[in-house]
Amino acid sequence: MKTFECKMCGDCCFGEGGIYLEDQESERIALFLQTSHDDFLACFCEERNNRTYLKTGRDNFCIFYEMGTGCAIHPVKPGRCSLWPFYRANVEDEETWEMAKWACRGISRECSFEEFVRQSRLAEK
Ligand code: SF4
Ligand code: SF4
Repeated sequence: MKTFECKMCGDCCFGEGGIYLEDQESERIALFLQTSHDDFLACFCEERNNRTYLKTGRDNFCIFYEMGTGCAIHPVKPGRCSLWPFYRANVEDEETWEMAKWACRGISRECSFEEFVRQSRLAEK
């Protein structure tokens, strides 16, 4: 049984932008969008606390979230997005994993925490 299967609900793409970009992710996304790096940063990103974050749209979803189809940059989405729900905090702490289940309907209610941790290791490979 899969411990995680995204339901494409978009809940994790909603809210004040918490998705930051690691080194080279902005170049990769700019390339995917066939735009220059500078234009990508100007149109889709903002700087906060010395980090580059994706902007939030007027509907309060991530600027790349499209209702009905989901993430417009899915093949190159930031590591923060593709790693979910196997964040270190969820894998190392059972209570945090329990809270993550409330936030994300894609995390199985049937699987045990031990199974979640085991599958997180497989996801890393
Ligand atoms: S909240 Fe969970 S199920 Fe919904 S889109 Fe995000 S990862 Fe997928
Ligand atoms: S980059 Fe894609 S997956 Fe990540 S928050 Fe934005 S729309 Fe959601």
